[in-house]
Amino acid sequence: MNTAVGRFAPTPSGRMHIGNVYAMLAAWLSAKSQVNPVIGLPGRVFLRIEDVDGSRAVPDADKWIMDDLHWLGLDWDGEPVYQSRRSAIYREALYALQSIDLDADAPLGDRSHVSGKVLVTRGDSSVSAGRLPDVPKGSAGRFPLVYPCFCSRADLRAACAPQEGDRFLIYPGTCRALLAGDPNEVRSRLEARRRHSWRIAVPDDEMGGGSVAFDDRVFGRQVFDLARDVGDTVIRRSDGVFAYQLVVVVDDLLMGVNDIVRGRDLLRSTALQVWIRKALIASGFAERYGIGSDDVAESDRGDAAGKARPVGTSVNPVYAHVPLIDAPSGQRLAKRKRSPDLGVLRAAGVEPEQVIGYCAWLLGVRKSDGIGNCGAAGPVPMDAQEALERFSWEQVKTDVSDRKLTVNWESELVSPKSATVA
Ligand SMILES: [Zn+2]
Repeated sequence: MNTAVGRFAPTPSGRMHIGNVYAMLAAWLSAKSQVNPVIGLPGRVFLRIEDVDGSRAVPDADKWIMDDLHWLGLDWDGEPVYQSRRSAIYREALYALQSIDLDADAPLGDRSHVSGKVLVTRGDSSVSAGRLPDVPKGSAGRFPLVYPCFCSRADLRAACAPQEGDRFLIYPGTCRALLAGDPNEVRSRLEARRRHSWRIAVPDDEMGGGSVAFDDRVFGRQVFDLARDVGDTVIRRSDGVFAYQLVVVVDDLLMGVNDIVRGRDLLRSTALQVWIRKALIASGFAERYGIGSDDVAESDRGDAAGKARPVGTSVNPVYAHVPLIDAPSGQRLAKRKRSPDLGVLRAAGVEPEQVIGYCAWLLGVRKSDGIGNCGAAGPVPMDAQEALERFSWEQVKTDVSDRKLTVNWESELVSPKSATVA
């Protein structure tokens, strides 16, 4: 029986708003509600400050977030992990991925699909970019797992049709075709230091395609076709910043996170991340950090009921994607400007129990009237422990539609009596 290990993963781009608290509460409740029967302790939650993109980080926002989490009663274990201090690890992960290739002959689902064969031995050079994937001659169906992409943002906008609401662009494969057809051109562009990103390839139709499936605690079985739904994706941007999709997988893997809770707009990203995770394990990267082949085999069977193993080494994540929060107008809360943040709410005299109670209500947590009925239809103030006693994923699942804030939610928080349904 594994101990559940969840994480708070805020981007320090400002003060938390109600939607952030909802996500943090969901992650905390999920991990804490899973008591390991062997040791009798609840799950753990780590705090990871997602500041890999320094241009988005606001000075001191990490401290505001931690102060607000304390205020809310949402505690975490250990020291916060800052992505901005982990570049060397991400670089190592990129190098590990660059050392392997896609193999059309191996079936997907079997980790040998990412062959793990080192085609080129590369020294641990300090060159940070410009590594050239070798395309083996006369080996149709084999392709470097990671390849350089010279497309500009404008090129991509022109070529890609945006998908649904998660801003995923399916890459049309321009530079993949270039590398397959004219590796010398790619080599000369790299030598000329042409600006480029690095993409991770997924098996295309010629290679037999492939899909990723996972079970989501809220949305059930999810199946994504890698080529059609995901496409080749940037893992290192052309400005040198490691992409969200890579760093999240590296961090979750190395931090032993096995209980991943986040918004339903990331369902498709999860499919990609499952793919990256498999590749990182196949490359030997995970093993270097003590995540052994036993874990890998178990992970690939998708069998969560494994034998006891120390906390921090499980590579078997369980996913829960929660409905999103809309403003009363129907607009996505995260995109709404001037959404009152915790700084505003706290200055107005709002108590943490009101914020937690409101977010717990959004998650479907209902305060029982003591005779087994849910007595209150609206949000009721409660602290994090009370929410924990009442939380279950079953409640969240009863309604998977996106949540809408009540019209007067701000004033309901400021004057709690109006929020308490008699
Ligand atoms: Zn390209």
